[in-house]
Amino acid sequence: MTDGSVEGGQERSRIDALSVDGLATALHCPRRFEFAHVDGLEGDGDDGPTADRVALLRTAICDALRRGETDREALVEAARGRLEALWADHDERFHSRTQRRHELRVLEATLEAYVDRVGVEHAAGIERLADDAAGGELIGPELPVSSTVSLPDRDETVEIDAAVDYVYADGQSVVGVRFVPTLAPLGLLRYRSDWEGAVAEAFTDHFDTATDGFDPTLVGALFETAVVIDGLRARCERLGLEDRTCRYVQIPLADRSSTAVNWVRETVEASLETVDLTETYIDHHTYGMTHEHRNRTVDDRLAAVVGDLLAAEYDPTNRWTQISSEVCPDCEYAVCCQDYIAAEVRFDG
Ligand code: SF4
Repeated sequence: MTDGSVEGGQERSRIDALSVDGLATALHCPRRFEFAHVDGLEGDGDDGPTADRVALLRTAICDALRRGETDREALVEAARGRLEALWADHDERFHSRTQRRHELRVLEATLEAYVDRVGVEHAAGIERLADDAAGGELIGPELPVSSTVSLPDRDETVEIDAAVDYVYADGQSVVGVRFVPTLAPLGLLRYRSDWEGAVAEAFTDHFDTATDGFDPTLVGALFETAVVIDGLRARCERLGLEDRTCRYVQIPLADRSSTAVNWVRETVEASLETVDLTETYIDHHTYGMTHEHRNRTVDDRLAAVVGDLLAAEYDPTNRWTQISSEVCPDCEYAVCCQDYIAAEVRFDG
């Protein structure tokens, strides 16, 4: 994806394409981005069993939606049947058959909660959009969307890649849906309904070295929202739907706090919360100017961060206090990181 080179005496990283995951890494620590995405050093690469189970459920739901079922029972039956087949080939190690049975029950309960909470409505929205989209691909999993970012003060653009799991119509909006393990990493974005106020403050503080503010996860989620919404806009233009506004919704599929287990009856009940990140992303000033779901502050900062990465600016020192206490302790690159080792030596000495 990237190559280091020297241009005009200044080191420069050639980035042809970036992903929202890469941006999230850089927001936590730009040196970590260099190790992972420039030097190509592999981390442990293991997302764990939760990610694998979310992937199973994501595939089962998308496959059921693809069958075009919009009736509740038919949708549940199609998704459960697909989940059962995927589960039969799932080779995760469990302590016992009881545990394996229990984890399948959790997935089935989550699947039913999804169908009851939003699945039927979204299936109908996919059907409506399919009528207008003339054969455009609407269901993933991992449906690619990308935004082309123009770099500040340069005649250059960079593609940022993201993915949604399906796209549906909700009134005049085209909505991209992404299944995630939990909503916990969203922090403030989960509990606020608009950009103005606390969200805007947390975002700007993250980049203001005069403050202690450091919230790479919140900033990363807003960048992801900007990329997904811009990618959906481009997709709508290709489908002749440029009159639609675009939205981005996340749905958690592995949130243990939303499941209730009755161990005596061996039953599991689940509930589901969804988050429309569009609400906390758009600012009404930019919306008033463009009539599109955009946020000038977020979009400009996204371009600036991408510009820094392109200029090979990976030095983490201007946020060292926060990075060393909040990011380094769990960093898989600490053993080979000169910034970290030098700080440890200074501390010991
Ligand atoms: S050890 Fe710390 S400074 Fe080094 S890459 Fe990891 S997070 Fe960044």
